[in-house]
Amino acid sequence: MILIQNMLSNKIQYLKGVGPANAAKFNKIGIATISQLLGHYPRRYEDRSSLKLIAELTDGLYGSFQAVVIDVNEPKARRGLKILKVVVRDISGVAYLTWFNQSYLKNKYKPGMELIISGKIQRRQHIIEINKPDIELAAEYNVGSGHIIPVYPATEDLPQWRIRSLTQQAVELLQNSLPSEADETLPQEIIEKNKLMERYKALANIHFPESMEILAQARRRLVFEELYLLQCGLAYVKNKTKYSSKGIKHAPDGALVAKVEENLPFSLTKDQCKTLQEIKADMEDTTPMQRLVQGDVGSGKTVIAALALTKTVENGYQGAMMAPTEILAEQHYHSLAQLLAPQGIRLAILTGKQTRSKREKTLCHFKEGLIDVVVGTHALIQEDVEFAQLGLVVTDEQHRFGVRQRARLEAKGNLPDVLIMTATPIPRTMALTVYGDLDVSVIRELPPGRQPIATYFRGNNRRDKVYQFAVEQIKAGRQAYIVCPLVDESEKVEAQAAVTIHEELSATYFKNIACGLLHGKMKSQEKEAVMAAFSCGEIKALVATTVIEVGVNVPNATVMIVEGADRFGLAQLHQLRGRVGRGIHKSYCILLSDSTNEETVERLTIMTRVSDGFELAEKDLLLRGPGQFFGTNQHGLPDLKIADIVRDTDILLEARSAAQATVCSTAHLEKVWKTLQDWFGDKFAMIFCR
Ligand code: ADP
Ligand code: MG
Repeated sequence: MILIQNMLSNKIQYLKGVGPANAAKFNKIGIATISQLLGHYPRRYEDRSSLKLIAELTDGLYGSFQAVVIDVNEPKARRGLKILKVVVRDISGVAYLTWFNQSYLKNKYKPGMELIISGKIQRRQHIIEINKPDIELAAEYNVGSGHIIPVYPATEDLPQWRIRSLTQQAVELLQNSLPSEADETLPQEIIEKNKLMERYKALANIHFPESMEILAQARRRLVFEELYLLQCGLAYVKNKTKYSSKGIKHAPDGALVAKVEENLPFSLTKDQCKTLQEIKADMEDTTPMQRLVQGDVGSGKTVIAALALTKTVENGYQGAMMAPTEILAEQHYHSLAQLLAPQGIRLAILTGKQTRSKREKTLCHFKEGLIDVVVGTHALIQEDVEFAQLGLVVTDEQHRFGVRQRARLEAKGNLPDVLIMTATPIPRTMALTVYGDLDVSVIRELPPGRQPIATYFRGNNRRDKVYQFAVEQIKAGRQAYIVCPLVDESEKVEAQAAVTIHEELSATYFKNIACGLLHGKMKSQEKEAVMAAFSCGEIKALVATTVIEVGVNVPNATVMIVEGADRFGLAQLHQLRGRVGRGIHKSYCILLSDSTNEETVERLTIMTRVSDGFELAEKDLLLRGPGQFFGTNQHGLPDLKIADIVRDTDILLEARSAAQATVCSTAHLEKVWKTLQDWFGDKFAMIFCR
């Protein structure tokens, strides 16, 4: 008998029925070996006992049934559109399968063939029709011993039955090969402690389970494995920076920090105090700080950053703060300057648009230590930016930056303390995965006196009233934002839309009102001028694209109208809404949309009821699924293959605590490391050795 280990590393050509042509098709979806074939997990399962009779099929729903072909024809159709019709029948009735312009299928189905047919059912009186159904030959469908049939992500090239029959061969080989220790990816102790199914059994049962219970066990094992290994990697990264490297030990607070604190125009909230304490404790420790501050929009993160920066300056170091947009960088620069400059702290700003000579002068000052705190955009991470003594790095709106960008700024110092701030509340399970290598502080409480923002969802038939309301508010001395619909195609199209709306409004409702325009295609100087004019109240109404999404702070603005609100996700709407309600006046957010889409209506209605960002984030995760958060690979973490962090929260928590124990004891690290390296190959270093 062959060892499982050796069997798995065979190429798929080793299986019956795989010649070069098929092998190439599989290679195209990343499957070259039997091991990879078995790693192509089913997308879902079909319970064969759930096949229906034709007479039982429900209009508009997805249904599966077994039937025999009785006729195949292609009636002549108008203007080149050919409709292929296959008529099938079971004991209860007849159904029509249709395809447009797919004549080649004509010879595929012959009278007498037994088929398993799945698809969306259209029922018109007594006629059942399914357009473009999924079809399998009944003989091929009946693979496996159980009645639970795997359904794989299939492609044009690779029909369901082919993946299924090959996988079945592979599973049979697996069951007839010899297990050995080398098949295990997890330490034995972890398997026993967490009552996990052995790997090779899980691999067989994830494809052809004998029962739903066994399937659940197999899945749990594979989900656990995936999350555990990822958590081990993250915990390792965290511990490595934490325990093995000597960072900067800041001294306890001195006169400078005390002075800045005394001169704050307000007293800190309880959550702000607690967060600040955590940050200070980290900074006073030798191990480099790696802390994430999650605080809802308007919770007052900037002042926390200001105090942390003051502390590093007091200790003779420089601080850097990176923001994702120029507008935001400028705003931070002004807020920090207000708090810090009076105490003699020297600030500078660095963005991409500065002239070369200005930039060079600033860079020179950094290098010589003539600047204490710098605020900037991505411009900060360019090669030629050097610091004399970087002690603290703050990144704002971390989700906008990739892990690597963050790392590049950190690399400009010698293990500086790192503070990451985000206003996108991340559900707890997500934070554990995406930010598994960070310590987390949360600012939940908003500064006192903030009134909830009254939020309304209105159809365009009420647009007139909505704008009249904005005009009233402006006449009463307030200011308004008008947000233009999000356009996916390009920033240019989006800008054009903004221009059009601006023209329309300037000619109508805002005829006698100073109305500004802000979009991504404008020159930096123009943007800056408009923002400044809005800040000081010269401009009363600001028509803008999502460039104002993060950070912009104009406390006198009390109205936000979002045009085409259906185009935004919950998290984004929440960010936008955070632009108002920042001062003492009652604020309003009006979402305009005519959408009748159920999910959209639900989303916009949630906005009118929920004001807490964390609650919204949880809802968003449920509505959209984690794909949105993981899909872009922006975090630098690998996509999850089987785990679903919404559904698998319990397993995540178990896997996480197991991983923490593993990393602390080091007894199993070697095994874990080997698996991670096998899995991620080249990407391993990038993901786990930052
Ligand atoms: P965000 O967390 O969204 O970055 P900011 O730091 O921009 O929030 O703060 C929002 C506003 O609240 C600012 O005008 C800031 O001056 C004010 N603020 C911050 N902390 C407090 C506080 N403790 N009391 C009163 N106002 C505060
Ligand atoms: Mg902020």
